Amino acid sequence: MTGPRALLEQLVRIPSVNPREAATPAETPLAEFVAEWARARGMQAELVPVQDGRANVVVTLAGASDDVILLETHLDTVEADGMTVAPYEVTYQDGRAYGRGTCDAKGQLAVFLSAMEAVAAAGVPSRTVVLAGVVDEEHRYVGVQELRRTWARTPLAAIVGEPTSLRMVVAHKGCMRCRITVRGDGGHSSEPWGRSNAISLAAEVVSYLQGPDVQGALDAQAQELVGPPSLAVTMIEGGAGPNILPETCTITIDRRTVPGEDPHQVWEALADDLTSRWPDVVEVAEPHIVDYALAATESPALDQFQAVLRSHGLDGAPLGVGHGTDASKLALDGVPCVVFGAGSIGKAHTADEYVPLDELDAACAVITSFIH
Ligand SMILES: [Zn+2]
Repeated sequence: MTGPRALLEQLVRIPSVNPREAATPAETPLAEFVAEWARARGMQAELVPVQDGRANVVVTLAGASDDVILLETHLDTVEADGMTVAPYEVTYQDGRAYGRGTCDAKGQLAVFLSAMEAVAAAGVPSRTVVLAGVVDEEHRYVGVQELRRTWARTPLAAIVGEPTSLRMVVAHKGCMRCRITVRGDGGHSSEPWGRSNAISLAAEVVSYLQGPDVQGALDAQAQELVGPPSLAVTMIEGGAGPNILPETCTITIDRRTVPGEDPHQVWEALADDLTSRWPDVVEVAEPHIVDYALAATESPALDQFQAVLRSHGLDGAPLGVGHGTDASKLALDGVPCVVFGAGSIGKAHTADEYVPLDELDAACAVITSFIH
């Protein structure tokens, strides 16, 4: 048996940085490795093309019934520029494995595959176990969307592998990002009198968005597991030269949604509000990123997962988080989802990303028990 530690070393050695908008098959070598690894252990594995030569990998361990338990995680990582540890060679210190993807999310991929190997060695599981390693979780989620289009059977439940410090995450926020452009008159900056200034107007818009009316309304929508929705101004760009009155200023906002909020309706309400407060000068572009929140659901499979966590001496209390995962897309098909994994989200995307080795082993034991 390989075990998650040794397998993680192999996975980290195969870079799979999300290519963002570039047409590059960045995750395919990793998908091929996973498929070969699984076939060598008697499992079925196939690559499912997504786009630009990029492919999801789907590994199936047939069970006594056709009911499917889905183990889903992503193949891609964020960039490795500026890392203070070797990105593509696991290094060890203080019981931690360092490298790009160790916690987000190759550690989880290693856990899932090792658990399937252990289950396969013990006989035929009662339910069919499908592992899906998908592309593009870090950018536009095209991998999970393709998975939803191509699966033969809707899973009974899904475990989504992301770093959660071994907690069971059952709810998370979604998001809506859009750009707001403010227009001014322009002109020579030595004669600013009587002319509207796009940067000054944008400052008013920013103050309003960060002010008590907007922020108070968000706070009033707080929910038990995930807390309140949020709105942050994250980028600003404006002006053409030091002696030119700015004609335009554009800000980008990141609005995090709570379960039950429709991101498109959130955008519409915001656009209506701003364009009625600043008629003719403010334009709110269609969202360039939209993601759904995950609402907690009731399901026997999730109760079982909680019982397994507790039987391993772990905290089984359900948790909500602020960041998005593939789970909210799987949940659109009515699949009950729990997000679970080794390592902390606080170390994902960092210059010294790591996963604690004991958490890797514990996660593997939990997933193995759950499948049994
Ligand atoms: Zn991730």
